[in-house]
Amino acid sequence: MKDMEIKKKITVIGGPCSLESPELVESFLKRFPDQKIIRGGIFKMRTNKNSYQGPGVYGINFMREIILKHDLRLTTEISDPRQLDVLNDITSIYQVGTRNMYNYELLKELSKTGKTVILKRAMSATIDEWLHAADYLEELGQDKIILCERGIRGIDNKFRNHLDLSSVMYLKMNTRFRVFVDPSHAMGLREYVEVASMAAITSGCDGLLIETHKTPSLALSDSRQAIDYDQYEQLLNNIKRLASFLEAEVET
Ligand code: PEP
Ligand code: MN
Repeated sequence: MKDMEIKKKITVIGGPCSLESPELVESFLKRFPDQKIIRGGIFKMRTNKNSYQGPGVYGINFMREIILKHDLRLTTEISDPRQLDVLNDITSIYQVGTRNMYNYELLKELSKTGKTVILKRAMSATIDEWLHAADYLEELGQDKIILCERGIRGIDNKFRNHLDLSSVMYLKMNTRFRVFVDPSHAMGLREYVEVASMAAITSGCDGLLIETHKTPSLALSDSRQAIDYDQYEQLLNNIKRLASFLEAEVET
């Protein structure tokens, strides 16, 4: 009977914070040819209006070619329903960022696309508020909604956010949603991304969003939390070892 059981799948989505240039994306794919789902921002939601805002329309154009060439699935953030027109043909998985979890009109529009949505937890949302937001996506059905813990506001300032793995435990115990963790935004410091990833998987999550960069110190956004390709390779190897212990499969 054991062979017939469906194995748990752990999905690891890597890629830069922002899809800065075709060269950056190609460098990642060259090093990780088996990575078929990648993350990266095109329209960035920056706290400071003077910070880099993402590649915008330029990014859409080069990503269209790269996606076709490598047969990729792109996960990218959408912050306004007006972006649907330009994002829909290149996006496989929409990401709703922490600043938009409460944007119910956006959620309703995304629900109509039929595509998988990663709904990040707002930085100060309770688990109930997060689940209520997910209700706005319900037309998609449970299997197309992924909840992503990305850290909440805590009392300490050692890290960018407070990684709340208890939310993962709660959601896995009490709901049927797939639950991802984004250790990059939770910790904000690259040297903690690996240990946080291991802890997240042990807490029961179904996937991870990891920010990578060819040269992290030169990343145009979130440079301090990006891991380089050697660190990502080591992370993937450790995830595979942990997954085999848990009898889970790893998808990239
Ligand atoms: C991101 O994933 O690049 C991002 C902006 O995430 P968050 O909305 O969690 O800050
Ligand atoms: Mn980021």
